[in-house]
Amino acid sequence: MRAVVMRMWLASLLVAAAWTGEVRAWGDAPTHFSLCGEPAVQEKFVLRFDPGLFPLFVEAAAGPDLANTLLFQASGRDYIHGAAFLAALDYVASRPKDRRWRSAWRPTWPVIAAAWRAHLAADEVAHSQYVPPDSPRHELVELAVDTCVYYLKPVPEALGDSWREVNISEAACDPALLYWASYLYTGGRLPVYPWMTREALGSLRRSIEAAYELHEARGGPEGSEALLKFLVPGKDWKTFYGASVTAVVNSLP
Ligand SMILES: [Zn+2]
Repeated sequence: MRAVVMRMWLASLLVAAAWTGEVRAWGDAPTHFSLCGEPAVQEKFVLRFDPGLFPLFVEAAAGPDLANTLLFQASGRDYIHGAAFLAALDYVASRPKDRRWRSAWRPTWPVIAAAWRAHLAADEVAHSQYVPPDSPRHELVELAVDTCVYYLKPVPEALGDSWREVNISEAACDPALLYWASYLYTGGRLPVYPWMTREALGSLRRSIEAAYELHEARGGPEGSEALLKFLVPGKDWKTFYGASVTAVVNSLP
């Protein structure tokens, strides 16, 4: 048994090598989508936001991981994954009448800001309680949890019939919102220009599609569950998934 697990570990290592440099705490494809699409989250979401925007909220949950794209990493714009940037995002999203972005402002902006807050809240649980900090165990665990979620968690009804239909769109990551939030956050020194968001969204979308293909190649959750027992002994991923759902619910205004 141990030899089998070792072989799986080595095989996953090769896959994880392709993700070098990425510091996700939960994966997006589909863990972040799934966490934000849970019924408990939707119940709270509709109390505050237009229920029709729930699918956009779920898609927007991957937004902060634009920070992991080569463009954002290489140009020093990975600050968009931080809590301080979230404050700037909230500031812009909640001030529709500010003359600087009045003409660009959309009712989706507060929803996108809420999704970013939800993402960071879920990552906080993963970082502090479950995902080991050292590489490559970190990346392997994220990938294995993604595979388990892919097979074991249902696709939220409003999103489609298959996880493969769920991905981040430009509407769920408005380049104008990112521009103004990053402009304020960096005092105009290192804003995220709209072309950068569009370019990086293409990379993130492709990496999410590649992750879905990888989960399908695995044929089921069994191998990944065995791998998780080996890499994170004594901890059940479902417990921490549940704690992340609670954190997402609590993060909603
Ligand atoms: Zn993240």
